[in-house]
Amino acid sequence: MAELKRLSESRDLTRIERIGAHSHIRGLGLDSSLEARDASEGMVGQLHARRGCGLILQLIRQGKIAGRAVLLAGQPGTGKTALAMGIAKSLGAETPFASVAASELFSLDLSKTEALTQAFRRSIGVRIKEEAEIIEGEVVEISIDRPLSAAAGPSGATAPGKTGRLTLKTTDMETVYELGGKMIEALGKEKVQSGDVIALDKASGKVTKLGRSIGRSRDYDAVGAHTKFVKCPEGELQKRKEVVHCVTLHEIDVINSRTQGFLALFTGDTGEIRAEVREQIDTKVAEWREEGKAEIVPGVLFIDEVHMLDIECFSFLNRALENDMAPILVIATNRGITSIRGTNYRSPHGIPPDFLDRLLIITTQPYTEDDIRKILDIRCDEEEVEMSADAKALLTKIGVETSLRYAINLITSAALACQKRKGKVVEMDDVSRVYGLFLDVKRSTQYLVEYQSQYMFSEGLGEADEDA
Ligand code: ATP
Repeated sequence: MAELKRLSESRDLTRIERIGAHSHIRGLGLDSSLEARDASEGMVGQLHARRGCGLILQLIRQGKIAGRAVLLAGQPGTGKTALAMGIAKSLGAETPFASVAASELFSLDLSKTEALTQAFRRSIGVRIKEEAEIIEGEVVEISIDRPLSAAAGPSGATAPGKTGRLTLKTTDMETVYELGGKMIEALGKEKVQSGDVIALDKASGKVTKLGRSIGRSRDYDAVGAHTKFVKCPEGELQKRKEVVHCVTLHEIDVINSRTQGFLALFTGDTGEIRAEVREQIDTKVAEWREEGKAEIVPGVLFIDEVHMLDIECFSFLNRALENDMAPILVIATNRGITSIRGTNYRSPHGIPPDFLDRLLIITTQPYTEDDIRKILDIRCDEEEVEMSADAKALLTKIGVETSLRYAINLITSAALACQKRKGKVVEMDDVSRVYGLFLDVKRSTQYLVEYQSQYMFSEGLGEADEDA
């Protein structure tokens, strides 16, 4: 029952993830020579910006150049966040990608420099290499000793605190291992029986079931998740395999922070981490790097709404990018010339000129009608909404006249209107209906202007707002 519940919960989560604003983005849609395909991997148009992001992606993958910063600048809804998502998806799981909105950095629990430091360290990966002694063979027999005392737990093969013996048959010998409680537990979880072919990591006690013996031929038939055909290893049985763990510097910080402990990684409530802890970790990681045990993987830190940062944050970023472990920083803004927070000065994008000077700037362009149509098409597929050609044409027209975001939002609401009349395909009427129900920015502003005298504290629109 509990199993079923967990399953349905995880399905719900997948569904929420699937229909997120950028869930249709699966990469940057580039070919092998980094040219942007017209529409690919959920990405449409914006060819110039996608090509630029492709070059940045190459820099990140090579991992040689740290501390570069890229600014994605453009009007609202022109795909800046989508481009950052495209970079993240193309990177793969091994390269850390951390993303924050600048407004999140101003929390009550953490100072903004601490929040920025944590964001930076979440985007720096450490690949730690470990040599593990793995033994593969067929299980001949497992014998578990009886618990030494009643306190050792109820009888049963998986009770901790017990010891036992495992006999593994290999090509030319039988090897007997003494088992501690940890290994017995691991065996129990894997439900290992005699006749199974297993890989046993002697240090961690981790057991991986590779298959089942099919007799004397010493070939093994694969079962379960490991669908490869397993042969009993010939000759040398004790293999040394390299095990690589990928963690971020932030994860190492949290695990070693005495006040928080590793559980904070799950709750996200890490609090401030002391500077001494970080210094010790940096020294340790530097030692590992010298000994060839670890390497640094500079990832990507994406800061959206970067105009929300203040002058102190920008100074921090300037300094942080000088560090030889710094990740690639990707920032985005939709602001024009505006004041730099914390000062009385104005500057392009609200970013101080010395920081602007460091940036590789990629601009995004407003979409053409054709791009909007294609993006709406992709979103209809993503949201599993069937829409007639007429309705799509109308929605595209709405997208051109209002905004892409507004048109995307209408897909779900039009589908609900269609569902309500028990229809299967969204028609023009459904789109018109929700267009009438929900105002876009232009119509909402017009309404306000018309009825402003009836609102409280209304001061009317300033010149700048009217232009907007
Ligand atoms: P803002 O400045 O308001 O933060 P933005 O430039 O970050 O806007 P996005 O949020 O990336 O804009 O885009 C709005 C919506 O359009 C998102 O759902 C996004 O996934 C989709 N979108 C934008 N550009 C593209 C594109 N080139 N291809 C496919 N989908 C896109």
